[in-house]
Amino acid sequence: MTKYVFVTGGVVSSLGKGIASASLAAILESRGLKVTLIKLDPYINVDPGTMSPFQHGEVFVTDDGAETDLDLGHYERFITTRMKKSNNFTTGQIYMSVLEKERRGDYLGKTVQVIPHITNEMQDFIRRGAGQGTPDAVDVAIVEIGGTVGDIESLPFLEAARQMSLKAGPNNVAFVHLTYVPWIAAAGELKTKPTQHTVQKLREIGIQPDALICRADRRIPDDEREKISLFTNVPEYGVISMWDVNTIYKVPRVLHEQGLDQLICTKLQLNTKSADLKRWDTLVHEVENPAEQVTIAMCGKYTDLSDSYKSLNEALRHAGIHNHAGVKIEYVDSETLTPQTVGGLAKFDAILVPGGFGKRGVEGKILAAQYAREHKLPYLGICLGMQVATIEYARHMAGLENANSTEFDPETPHPVIALIDEWQDADGSIQKRDANSDLGGTMRLGAQSSDVKDGTLARDIYGPVVTERHRHRYEANEHYLDRLQQAGLVISAITQREKLTEMVELPREVHPWFVGVQFHPEFKSTPWGGHPLFTAFIKAALNHKHQA
Ligand code: GLN
Repeated sequence: MTKYVFVTGGVVSSLGKGIASASLAAILESRGLKVTLIKLDPYINVDPGTMSPFQHGEVFVTDDGAETDLDLGHYERFITTRMKKSNNFTTGQIYMSVLEKERRGDYLGKTVQVIPHITNEMQDFIRRGAGQGTPDAVDVAIVEIGGTVGDIESLPFLEAARQMSLKAGPNNVAFVHLTYVPWIAAAGELKTKPTQHTVQKLREIGIQPDALICRADRRIPDDEREKISLFTNVPEYGVISMWDVNTIYKVPRVLHEQGLDQLICTKLQLNTKSADLKRWDTLVHEVENPAEQVTIAMCGKYTDLSDSYKSLNEALRHAGIHNHAGVKIEYVDSETLTPQTVGGLAKFDAILVPGGFGKRGVEGKILAAQYAREHKLPYLGICLGMQVATIEYARHMAGLENANSTEFDPETPHPVIALIDEWQDADGSIQKRDANSDLGGTMRLGAQSSDVKDGTLARDIYGPVVTERHRHRYEANEHYLDRLQQAGLVISAITQREKLTEMVELPREVHPWFVGVQFHPEFKSTPWGGHPLFTAFIKAALNHKHQA
């Protein structure tokens, strides 16, 4: 029987609900339970794929090609269960599904309403995410409800959660509410009033939380916890303090020490072994005690550099851990890179050009790739970063003047990067790789496998086959590959199915470490295994530093 823990949020957003949920899941997993996490997003968009990174931060991509909320990235980094399309859904998806049923006549002439039709649909989606009734069913599904209690938008989700607990019975559903306890400097006090109000709001809807996770910049003293307990009807042992920590990987320990997992297991009548957080402690020790440090320049558009690259930042840090090094990431706004300023990159141990969309800042990224190539600085180009490295190579090494991607210059004489539909032969005919492929003009999404060429860096890193996730439209144009290879570029991996260029690199004789990948390796990095590509990149950065 699958049990559910709903995690709601109060007062303000950005308190770390995703990390708190993932941490609870990780502790439960360490107790031997099979756990998954599900994220419910209250917005109407069908998925975040179409949303601007300013609005939404990173779009996380699963193996099965779903474009999801970035919290799913935290989930995969914290627990072993892999996320699927069904682990994240939005109000938009619920309505779309209900409306499709309505058009098919599935509701047999009834008036279709928020309660019960929308809320039932939500419960079905939640159960599906938990694999309930299938061989994949988990013991516990932690369901994180996006938004803040009191928002109109998330109300139906809360109602669905309440109904689930009513139907499933009190020992099958638990509620955890994350709230904020601000420190008011002028008064020199922590204030519990916002917490009192948000829990009142929740109880109005009919949800009595079993535990409160109280975010504050500091530990909440016992007398304040007692007060919160009194006003919220949550027993004092359920009022848990989550203070600011220097690494997110400390959170499982913080929550476990205060008994959150035991409270949940007692409530849900789960008899398990006790939690074992040794590997988290080791991880935190590694994070806090690096033997040395490398500094990486991340060259992107200034505006999308922070939250848009969550997984990438984590992947670099993981790679640091596996090299006993701290990784300092410095964002370089590629719009500021010109032939006059690009020399400033010399102070870095390596250069990374991450994925991105749109023309702005692209010439700066091309300059960064050129600088890395010419100055033998380790270079990792991810997705767009591989594309700009290819453009740069075409222009300066293969004699293809004004080569570009059709994304940035539709009129380029040499579309070395283009939509598959735009790969024209000399006679103007368009060749599609695969009659069944709908890749042209649409995103290539999710996991795909490629064969890796012998004797390459890629082969050392990945072995004979690489399987990574994708999120992009443009591809290295097949018609230019011969020219590029004759000029010395190595195509080191090619997709098995459609024979698309997946990895490029420079030969070891001419450059110590220069790799471009069309996929997004960052989505598969975890603190435990790290990731072979990032680990190799950071190692190259360390080598560069030691030689300098
Ligand atoms: N804009 C490029 C494309 O669509 C790269 C996308 C990316 O970096 N994710 O192919």
